[in-house]
Amino acid sequence: MFKEADLIQISALQHYSYCPRQCALIHQEQEFAENVYTLRGDAVHERVDDPKLSYLAVGKRVEFALPLYSFQYGLAGKADVIEFFTDGAPYPVEYKHGSKREKLHDDIQVAAQALCLEEMLAVSVLKGSVYYASSKKRREVLINENLRAVTQDVIQAVHNLLSSDRMPAAVNDRRCLNCSLHDICKPEILSATSELNQLYTELFSLNPDEET
Ligand code: SF4
Repeated sequence: MFKEADLIQISALQHYSYCPRQCALIHQEQEFAENVYTLRGDAVHERVDDPKLSYLAVGKRVEFALPLYSFQYGLAGKADVIEFFTDGAPYPVEYKHGSKREKLHDDIQVAAQALCLEEMLAVSVLKGSVYYASSKKRREVLINENLRAVTQDVIQAVHNLLSSDRMPAAVNDRRCLNCSLHDICKPEILSATSELNQLYTELFSLNPDEET
């Protein structure tokens, strides 16, 4: 069991599955920057970040901004929306900007919320949804064994990363184009430096007999 001081944010799982370096920069170095994507995300979350929005509907109670935790997995966070059906089963709904799309890191966030709800309420949570604000469509996420295993692996990896002082290497690929931390991270420079270091290493490890 984790102590309260060692809980990691559920959002760190999404950041890690997008780019481990991004996760370390945000959750270890406390770096943050906005770009058009984070601003759109903030705008969507602001719409649901108020417990007073909670309401009763036919066959369900809809709760907004519900705090979540798991001491077994060492997680803490806040759910955008949890629907509670009359049989007591909670159904997490994660809000995202953009249009309906398949994204593993969105699914991991829903699964992590399910793990928290299972511990908090001693129930099984077998499915949830991602709601895409631009297309106003939901995509159902099955919390199956595969997704649970992937999510638990990512949770472990994030705990390992954030309890170390390791800074993962820059991925320097397409992910960097949309990353709000691009100017802080400077992936092209870091990648060039690492290639240069590799060249130096190879240069000075040459066997004298191989020199030209
Ligand atoms: S700029 Fe690229 S390497 Fe740096 S944090 Fe963002 S995605 Fe990761």
